[in-house]
Amino acid sequence: MSSTTSEKPVAIVTGGSRGIGLEIARELVQTLGMRVVVVDIVESQINELADSFGPGAENIDGRVMDVTDSEGLTKLVDDVAEQYGRLDVMVNNAGITRDGLLLRMSDEDWQTVINVNLSSAFYGTRAAAKHMVRQRGGSIINISSFAGVEGNRGQANYSSSKAGLIGLTKTTAKELSSKNVRCNAIAPGFIQTDMTDALPQKAKDMALEFIPLKRMGQAQDIAYAVAFLASDRAAYMTGQVLCVDGGMHM
Ligand code: NDP
Repeated sequence: MSSTTSEKPVAIVTGGSRGIGLEIARELVQTLGMRVVVVDIVESQINELADSFGPGAENIDGRVMDVTDSEGLTKLVDDVAEQYGRLDVMVNNAGITRDGLLLRMSDEDWQTVINVNLSSAFYGTRAAAKHMVRQRGGSIINISSFAGVEGNRGQANYSSSKAGLIGLTKTTAKELSSKNVRCNAIAPGFIQTDMTDALPQKAKDMALEFIPLKRMGQAQDIAYAVAFLASDRAAYMTGQVLCVDGGMHM
């Protein structure tokens, strides 16, 4: 494996082969000129990534990994840092839902969501931080949720995982700021992706009533915020939760 230092800043985006993660990867490549390692669990989606990515596809490096695999994800992060000689940005974006009312929620649905949404971000943060501390700089961005800030009926597992990400974000920021490693979270509201397409129309209509800007967000709305937090323009921001939600939380 080559260890020449990449001239371009290097980012890792988990869950980046579709939805919000894919737009984040596009924004980091196309606007910030980064090299982006996209991590996803489904091999076919990683294989098709280069064809669907658009301009800058040569700066995408797809890797298949289940982010709940602590050892695997840690090794992947170490390999990326070694291969490119740097790691500048870590975006913990992979996430799932297994909705159900609290009284009926199974242990499995609780644990699976906590593992994918929260534990994975801990593994990714711990692994990335080691390299960022060494290079005296980096930006870690956790994709939380409006549900993590406010709670949400039918989402005890999901909202707890997303609230946990906010705790992880603030603690990481406090522990690493002296090494110039920043950590922030984004709390998206209702964003149009496969995740929300799966909701019944009635639930979508209800959600729209609570959005002051009266529309669902687009994945790109989140990607713009990630690009800002990843860039030096946010050099004086750490430990923050940026709500990108059409004004729902105010
Ligand atoms: P999608 O379901 O469209 O995409 C999620 C991505 O994560 C997929 O690429 C998926 O892979 C990947 N993923 C899931 N599990 C794993 C795993 N174990 N290992 C590796 N990759 C995995 O979701 P969104 O784009 O909508 O959401 C992205 C993030 O934004 C999530 O954390 C979500 O909770 C958060 N969010 C989304 C909101 C919305 O309204 N859409 C609102 C608030 C927060 P695969 O394709 O193989 O399933």
